Amino acid sequence: MSLIVQKFGGTSVADADRIRNVAKIITDTYKAGNNVVAVVSAQGDTTDDLIAKAAEINPAASKRELDVLLSCGEQISMSLLAMAIQKLGFPVISLTGWQAGLKTDSAYGNARIKQIDTDRLNAELDKGKIVIIAGFQGINKYDDITTLGRGGSDTTAVAFAAALKADLCQIFTDVDGVYTADPRIVSDAVKLDEISYDEMLELASLGAQVLHNRSVELAKKYHVNLEILSSFKNVPGTKVKEVVNVEKMLVRGVTRDNDIARISIIGLPDEPGIAFKIFSLLAQKRINVDIILQSIGRCNTKDLSFTVAKPNLDAALSILNDNINSFKGKSITYDDHISKVSIVGAGMESNPGVAAKMFEALYDANINIQMISTSEIKISVLIDRDDSEKAVKAIHERFKPAD
Ligand code: ADP
Ligand code: ASP
Ligand code: MG
Repeated sequence: MSLIVQKFGGTSVADADRIRNVAKIITDTYKAGNNVVAVVSAQGDTTDDLIAKAAEINPAASKRELDVLLSCGEQISMSLLAMAIQKLGFPVISLTGWQAGLKTDSAYGNARIKQIDTDRLNAELDKGKIVIIAGFQGINKYDDITTLGRGGSDTTAVAFAAALKADLCQIFTDVDGVYTADPRIVSDAVKLDEISYDEMLELASLGAQVLHNRSVELAKKYHVNLEILSSFKNVPGTKVKEVVNVEKMLVRGVTRDNDIARISIIGLPDEPGIAFKIFSLLAQKRINVDIILQSIGRCNTKDLSFTVAKPNLDAALSILNDNINSFKGKSITYDDHISKVSIVGAGMESNPGVAAKMFEALYDANINIQMISTSEIKISVLIDRDDSEKAVKAIHERFKPAD
């Protein structure tokens, strides 16, 4: 008998018919002789709607109270799904994140999983029950509710798959796998049969929302057998594995991330210690910095630009403006109408000319590059937001796999 963890995203449980469809997928898996743990997201746009409701009452509400509210979305889905499975005549129980033993740190709104206590879960599975768990939520050491960050139900599923040593973790969503680009932007994007953990981690971190990036980190760390597939179409999906054959395809995917902003500090003195002072201030506020560009000193001054996640922009500007004298900057500017477009592929490491080909695609589309960053398996460029769809299409066209 195998243990399978199945996760269903918001679109997959958006209404009664879709919940019935998910109940059928789960009970078919159970009937085939497997133990099943299912993790669910909030229905449709519920999480966005709850955030809007909170903002109507108090735009400055504490993150703790926001987490209490947001965790309700997943609880609606889990109980409705359990009811649908009861109706089909199968033994089932729904559990909140904390009932299922998911313990986190106290970073409300973006909590990290610290531990999973599987006693209750194993007891229910031993009774032959299908267990439905509310995704995206846990409990901290103060017994307060926490959430794992937007898209975090994927991470709940992979974490339980790891804790229970499941044979397989299936992420059911509204596309039938991982594509070479977001199929909603690029109509001729190609579905990948398989992708390595490292490539998937880069794609997820660079904006391909099909998987929460922390879910891929966990899958890699605990060797979770992961599969992305459609809850609407019964076709093979994409398998995420340790190593895959990279020979066929140089670039595995093109992504874009609109959720970033660029900050520039102008007129810094050209002397040691300036970057250290600036980035220490940001680190104190736990603000992550991504692409960094520093100009060569001229006339004893230099400029420094870097990107931050958009939700951190206000906090970053405020700490930098408050301390501008400590690092002797002249002025601080920002741009939040930008986009980061990236290509990812383990094959590019040993193939020269990939960057040139990407930049040529952007040049031919008349798109200006503001900043560039590279690593062994990715190249990212910062461009104007209005050009981002055009850029993804142009780059994908240049690298798309031959038929
Ligand atoms: P769920 O609600 O099931 O968690 P998400 O909306 O979070 O689903 O993720 C699925 C979406 O990810 C797809 O609808 C698709 O538009 C988007 N996406 C972005 N990049 C990719 C990609 N490279 N391959 C597949 N889907 C992608
Ligand atoms: N409901 C949460 C969100 O919309 C978590 C998830 O769907 O994974 O971000
Ligand atoms: Mg998602």
